[in-house]
Amino acid sequence: MTRHAQCSCGQLSLAVEGEPVRRSMCHCLECQRRTGSVFAVQARFPRDAVTITGKSTTYSRTGDSGGTATFHFCPVCSSIVYWGADAADGAMYIPVGAFADPNFPAPTVSVYGERAHPWVTIPADVEKLE
Ligand SMILES: [Zn+2]
Ligand SMILES: [Zn+2]
Repeated sequence: MTRHAQCSCGQLSLAVEGEPVRRSMCHCLECQRRTGSVFAVQARFPRDAVTITGKSTTYSRTGDSGGTATFHFCPVCSSIVYWGADAADGAMYIPVGAFADPNFPAPTVSVYGERAHPWVTIPADVEKLE
């Protein structure tokens, strides 16, 4: 199966083969800032499953754990379309919203739940990790 993800304007796009290795939701404050939403949902794929078309600008950030994540965003419309992280070499993370597909499989894990907005309900079948 091939899925397609892209930025708002379509300049930067991805063709992604196969199923995601991991699907997670994150309530951390950095994800809140990064997305402008109150939690983030992302899918992890092997880097070699993804074909990139278009230009990206990067921003690297070092997290609490000491790992650095490099975010790739469209220089025209600013949407983040993918990122890689030191801690998971060979992995690419893609925001699920970039697929614009309501049938994309749901997340299976939730992290940083202690930062979740109190009105956000985490589905009962989603595993809550510390
Ligand atoms: Zn764009
Ligand atoms: Zn986060």
